[in-house]
Amino acid sequence: MKNPFEPKELWFLTGSQGLYGEETLAHVAQQSQAVVAALNESPNLPINVVWKPVLTDSESIHHTIVEASSNPKVVGVIAWMHTFSPAKMWIRGLEALRKPLMHLHTQAEAELPWSTIDMDFMNLNQAAHGDREFGYILTRMGIPRVSVVGHVNQDFTTRRIGTWARAAAGWNEAQNMRMVRFGDNMRNVAVTEGDKTEAEIRFGISINTWSVNDLAEAVEAVPTATVDSLIDEYMTTYEVSADLAPGGASHNSLRYAARQESAIREFLDAERATAFTDTFEDLGALRQLPGFAVQRLMSEGYGFGAEGDWKTGALIRIAKVMGHGLPGGASLMEDYCYNMVGGNEKILGAHMLEVCPSLTTSKPSVEIHPLGIGDREDPVRMKFSADSGPGVVVAMADLRDRFRLTANVIDVVQPDEEMPNLPVAHAVWTPQPDFSTSARCWLAAGAAHHTVLSTQIDLETWQDFATIAQVELAEITAETTVHRFEESLRWDSVYYRMAQGL
Ligand code: MN
Repeated sequence: MKNPFEPKELWFLTGSQGLYGEETLAHVAQQSQAVVAALNESPNLPINVVWKPVLTDSESIHHTIVEASSNPKVVGVIAWMHTFSPAKMWIRGLEALRKPLMHLHTQAEAELPWSTIDMDFMNLNQAAHGDREFGYILTRMGIPRVSVVGHVNQDFTTRRIGTWARAAAGWNEAQNMRMVRFGDNMRNVAVTEGDKTEAEIRFGISINTWSVNDLAEAVEAVPTATVDSLIDEYMTTYEVSADLAPGGASHNSLRYAARQESAIREFLDAERATAFTDTFEDLGALRQLPGFAVQRLMSEGYGFGAEGDWKTGALIRIAKVMGHGLPGGASLMEDYCYNMVGGNEKILGAHMLEVCPSLTTSKPSVEIHPLGIGDREDPVRMKFSADSGPGVVVAMADLRDRFRLTANVIDVVQPDEEMPNLPVAHAVWTPQPDFSTSARCWLAAGAAHHTVLSTQIDLETWQDFATIAQVELAEITAETTVHRFEESLRWDSVYYRMAQGL
């Protein structure tokens, strides 16, 4: 996956005012440059922070924000009122702001110099009230933002900024995302439907459909040499079963899967698309439901939705961008079966084939098994069990007048026993706060059975994403109770309808 954080930038805007005079403003510039240097030294920030000259009047503020808003390299703006920056000066600029905003509430000196503090120190370190003035105008103007409070030498602070930076990069990805759909949705399914025009208005995602036979033709046209080199790669990367290996009885099925992988990748790249969907009900001249090919492409960072589910496909791509470089992975997931034994409730998540191997650090096996659904030849697939650890599942539903994201914090665990007869990759998890509360809330939210499971990013990253996107995020966490959750759904229904205007 191409590094989504390069050559991206976060612009750092420092607020002050002309009244302080040249000498003080030179100190302000120096101190804000030191803050930016500290941010860039931190391993917690995945995106480079670019210092901009101190802003002291309405014209320079407006000019800088217009520049940030129109520069495609800029994925977000960090603002800090180092001193007092009368906030009416910010109105014109904030009206022009088109990028995610983080309000960093910090101070140059972490320690108050109790024994030596004088008026000079007081006048130079005024973020305590300067940032409150800024918070007022942001709230009054209804500007969505994430506020981070802390000194930049604290790990907590840079981590928090890093989380927001990842969310801002996810938003930038959504704003530029193109999705290729091979065929439409699975027939009669409700939750995978949705308003694609609204998705482009709200998130920026351009979602369009191609005939699956355009892909089938491209699959047939993949050169033998390309297939050969992919087979070599598979043989070293995975435990390929003997029947699929060169010389094996089903080797041609693996070669066909390699053709699918190569053809889909080229198709997407030609369309500058980073996500796609297919459906087993519309495979045209394809000989296998793409399973292994989809798993390979997801592990490269492409988003994928099964059964035409473009909403989940988009979430997977966004999750992969936000989590880039972190341990763990992100995958399409489907709540499949339960262990409902009291006190040991677990969810078995899987899909027909398409689970991303970024969820495991083990070496997946590559196998071929029959698939009753889809009416095609037996498909090749990777098989593995997801690594244990904390994760989050997120689903998107189209509630007719708006989109709702629902998230559940989970713990991926190991299956109670080996599952030798299960022919698909899978993850087993326990949902927070407990199985019953989680499922009751999920049902109340009308959240989908398709999700993105990410073990790279946490709920906070999705919270920041939702703040930036101004979309509802219904959260099921360790603190959730059914009563409060249902109550918050009712409030959200009113708020998000009203916030959209007429
Ligand atoms: Mn499904």
